[in-house]
This record gives sequence, structure tokens and C-alpha cells, in this order.
Amino acid sequence: MLPIIETSGQVFAERKLRELNETLEQQVITRTAELDRAWQLSQELLAVASPKGVIEAVNPMWTAVLGWERHELVGQPFMDFTHPDDLEPTLDAFASIFERPLVTPYENRYRHKDGSYRWFGWTGTFENGKVYASGRHITVEREQAEVLRQSQKMEAVGQLTGGLAHDFNNLLAGISGSLEMMQTRIQQGRFNDVERYMTVAQGASKRAAALTHRLLAFSRRQTLDPKPTDVTRLAMGMQEMIQRTVGPGIPVEVVGATTTWPALVDPPQLENALLNLCINARDAMPDGGSITIETANKWMDERAARQHDIPEGQYLSLSVTDTGTGMPPEVIARVFEPFFTTKPIGEGTGLGLSMIYGFAQQSEGQVRIYSEVGQGTTVCIYLPRHYGMVEDETVAERIADLPRSKDGETVLIVDDEPSVRMLITDIVEDLGCAAIEAGDSATGLKVLRSDVRIDLLVTDVGLPGGMNGRQMADAARVVRPDLKVLFITGYAENAVLGAGKLPLGMAVLTKPFAMDQMAARIRSMIEGAKEQARRA
Ligand code: ADP
Ligand code: MG
Repeated sequence: MLPIIETSGQVFAERKLRELNETLEQQVITRTAELDRAWQLSQELLAVASPKGVIEAVNPMWTAVLGWERHELVGQPFMDFTHPDDLEPTLDAFASIFERPLVTPYENRYRHKDGSYRWFGWTGTFENGKVYASGRHITVEREQAEVLRQSQKMEAVGQLTGGLAHDFNNLLAGISGSLEMMQTRIQQGRFNDVERYMTVAQGASKRAAALTHRLLAFSRRQTLDPKPTDVTRLAMGMQEMIQRTVGPGIPVEVVGATTTWPALVDPPQLENALLNLCINARDAMPDGGSITIETANKWMDERAARQHDIPEGQYLSLSVTDTGTGMPPEVIARVFEPFFTTKPIGEGTGLGLSMIYGFAQQSEGQVRIYSEVGQGTTVCIYLPRHYGMVEDETVAERIADLPRSKDGETVLIVDDEPSVRMLITDIVEDLGCAAIEAGDSATGLKVLRSDVRIDLLVTDVGLPGGMNGRQMADAARVVRPDLKVLFITGYAENAVLGAGKLPLGMAVLTKPFAMDQMAARIRSMIEGAKEQARRA
């Protein structure tokens, strides 16, 4: 009995094995069919490619989305279908698959048979010597996002123009209101009040000018006045003002090598840009932090120049680093867009960085942003190096920067208007010179005929006291033949002066003059007087 049982057992086992084989085969067939169905039905473009990027297999979706038949694709390098602008990054993305699977979709464009392009988001992996890739068609999504972006931009433009109109109306109200009040007061003979309204009107005009300036900067149509500039000195000169602006919770440090190159740039615009960057930094640090302003010499070799999209050469960099919130990549990608802001309405204009970008481009430089969320941000402005020295004139134009006189130079100021005398006296004293004031030509002449040291006479032309300014100066030159004279005149008085053919050592400044201008003029005339004395 046993053998039989044994035999039947063997038969049973063989049958089992055969059945198992059959099901396995069946399973493989089913599995392949399933895979094949997935391959056939997938909504995504599926492809198998060689490590060299030659397409070996594609699913039907390729034909549905891109119009190419299977045989037109297989055997071709996928690069032949890639948008030329996407080629380089696409090759990089392809190369990265050999190191690790591509899981975050990489977006690029492929050419449709009709010549147009479609957008795809690709994922892929490298296994058993083949690259397996899957691409989701995202053209519609991208177009919708673009439409949304455009409409958001238009909304922002609307907000901005609305805001600007509002600002301008306020400023105009300040100006026209003051003018009206001045007219009334003049009619009433109350001249003392006029000054006050004038100040209000002037303040409003200045702010209006600043506003248009910002708009022009942003449209890159501002007139730039580039000068050889010591950017480190400029930054140091602004430190105190920036510190006051950002408040005590955020220490501001200026780091600069003493040997930075001069840059060719418009100084007031650069100051404006620097201030803007620091305000952005402050806004990114609501809980405090610190700001570092740094200048450095940068030599851009061919590679660096290509990376920074500027010509090869030497640059001066000015960077502002904060320890604030930082920015995610999608924000960084848009910060130079005009009107792009993440700040609440009324707080951000979205013009700061776009303006800085425009300014840097117009200055033949560049701006770059390095930022990490939670770590902080560095914004770096590159400016072309100026080959040569910084001329003193350019940096010394601000009164505060003017060199102080050490030799007891004295300026005589003759004007019947006390406030003008006071202003000029202040300028003269700021320059470190002594000032003597006279309110009429008779007093002025008395001083001039004395043996008091006078290096420069600054005088109004229309004067009480029997002589006009010109006559007084001529009389003074009888005893002081080398006396330097600076006339301040309104347009009407130019005839009296005989302006245009003034003798050597006499000059005119027309009213109204800017204080800086007056200071520079006085200084240069005193320098001239000293030079003359030295030669004599
Ligand atoms: P605004 O300051 O009016 O928003 P900007 O053009 O100056 O306009 O800046 C645009 C946006 O860039 C800001 O809203 C902010 O989101 C981002 N940003 C700029 N600077 C910084 C910074 N230092 N740290 C973090 N985000 C910044
Ligand atoms: Mg800003």
C-alpha cells in the first residue's frame, strides 16, 4: 500500500508544482498586462531612456500631448525636443538622476510637433542601467499662474497709483494752501506770517520731488550723476542716521577695509539705496537682530562675471546683512518685481528693491540676494570700480564734510536781511572760519577800511547805507586790491552788478541758493585767497 500511497503522493506533488508554475506564469502575464495597461493609460508622459539620454520607449501619452508618433521619438536624444533655453538646466537635472532619484518635479518645456512648446514637471529614477522618467503636463497650470500673477500685478499697480494720487494730493494741498495764505497775508500786510507758509510749501515741494524721484528711479529713467565715490566713507557717514532710523533694538555695524576702491556711482542715489536696504532689514527683524553693512573689493573673473551677469572686471561691493526672517525661494524669485511686496497694504510699496535693481543696472553694476529662511538675508550691490582717486570736491560738498579752516580766516557778511546774514554766518562758522556781520554798506565799508583780517566778502547787491554791494566792493578794493568778493543777487540785480564781466576774484551766486552750494562756493573762494597769499 505504501508505494502506491507514495506514488500517488509524488503525482500529487508534481501536479501541485505544475499548477504553481502555471499560476506564476499567469501572474506574470497578468502583472505585465496590468503594467502595460498602466503604461498605456497613464495621464503622464512615461519614458525609458539610456544613460546617454536616448529615448528607448515612450507611452501613447507622448503622441496625445506632443503630437510626435512613437517611432519619431524612439532612438532620438530627448535633448532634441527640449526648449533651447531649458537645455542646460535640464542636462543638470538629468545628470542628478544617476546620484539620487528626482522626486521634486523638475519643470521644463518640450517641443510639440507643431513647433510650439509645452510645460512638464518631471520625476525620474535610474535603475538597472536605464532612466525611467515620468512627466506631468502642466502648461495650463503655468498659464493660469501667469494670468493670476498679471492680475495681481495690475491690482498692485492700481493700489500704487491710488496711493500716489493720494500722496500727491496731500502735498499739493500743502503747497496751494500755503500760497493762498501767503497771498492773503501779503494783502493784509502781515508779512511776518509769510515765512511760515513758505516753509510749509517748500517742505511739501521737497517731498513731492522726492516722490517723483523714486518713481523715476524705479522706471530707470532718472538722471544719474555718477562720481568717483568712496563707498566705505559714504556708508560710515550714514551709520548714525541709519541707526536712528532702525531704532536702538537693532545695532548697525559698518565693516569696511580702509583700502576699498573708489566706485563710479551717483552718491545720493546710493545713500537712498542703502537706506532702503536697511529699512527692509529692519522690517525683517520685528524681534530685533543686527545689521551689518560691509564694503569690499571684488574681482570678477570670467566665470564670476558670467554668474553675476556683468562684464568681467573690478567691482566694489556694498552689502547689507540682517539676522531676520529670510526669504523662501519663491519670494526671492520675485523681489525685484516692481510692486512685489509681502507687507500689509499701506506699509510696503514693493518699489524698494526694484528701484535698487534699476539703479544698479543703470550704474552698470548688479544686485544679488542671498537669503535663508530663519537665518537672515544679505543683499549685495556691485558697482564698477573707478580707476583713479576720489576727487575732494565730490565728497566735500556736504557742509559737514568740508575741511575746517585752521588759520583764522575771516569772512565779512553784508546783508540787510538778518535771517540771510544768520544763515551765511552759520555756514562760515561750520567751515571753521570767523564771521563778521554788517547790516548796511556804510558799516561794511568801515570794516573793510579797517585793518581787520578779511579773506572774503560776501555781500548782497541791494543794500541800504548809500552804496550798493558792487560799489562797496569797488571802494574796498582801493585799500584791499586782492579782496575776494562773492555777491548774492536776485535776477533783477544782475544788471547793477554788470555780471558777466566781473573783475577777477569776484563771483556771483543767484538766489535762491542751496546751502551746500553756498558752502562749497565760500570754501573754494577762501582756498583761492589763501593760495594767492601764499604766492605773494
Ligand atoms: P517693500 O519693502 O515695500 O515690501 P521691497 O521691494 O523693498 O518692497 O521688498 C520686496 C519684498 O522683499 C518685501 O516685501 C519682503 O518680502 C522681501 N524682502 C526685502 N528685503 C528683505 C529682507 N532683508 N529680509 C526678508 N525679506 C525681505
Ligand atoms: Mg522696502
